[in-house]
Amino acid sequence: MSDETAARAQLEKQRDELAQRVDRLQAAEHDETAASGNVAGETDNAHKWENAEIREGQISEALDELRQTEAALARLDEGNFGVCVICGKPIEPERLELIPEAVRCEKHA
Ligand SMILES: [Zn+2]
Repeated sequence: MSDETAARAQLEKQRDELAQRVDRLQAAEHDETAASGNVAGETDNAHKWENAEIREGQISEALDELRQTEAALARLDEGNFGVCVICGKPIEPERLELIPEAVRCEKHA
C-alpha cells in the first residue's frame, strides 16, 4: 500500500511537471506564430520553421508522456496499478520505481 502511495505522489508530480512543460511550449509556439507576421528574410523564416518543428516534436512527446502518466494514475484508482497489461502479472518493483507509468512487465516491454 505504501508503495502505491509513493507511486501516486511521483506520478502526480510528474503529471504537473509535464503539464507545465506543455503549457510553456505551447505558449512559446503561440508567441512565435504571433510574431511571424512581422517578417524577415528567408533565412530567418527557415530557421523559424526548424524551431517550430523541433518544438512540435517536444510538445507531442510531452503530451504522450502526460497521457501515459494520467493513464497510470487512472490505473491506481482502479486498483490495476503495477499489473502488466499483457500477462496480468505484477510488474517488477524496480521497473516501477524507474518508470512509474509502465504498463508492461520487463518481459513484455
Ligand atoms: Zn507481462
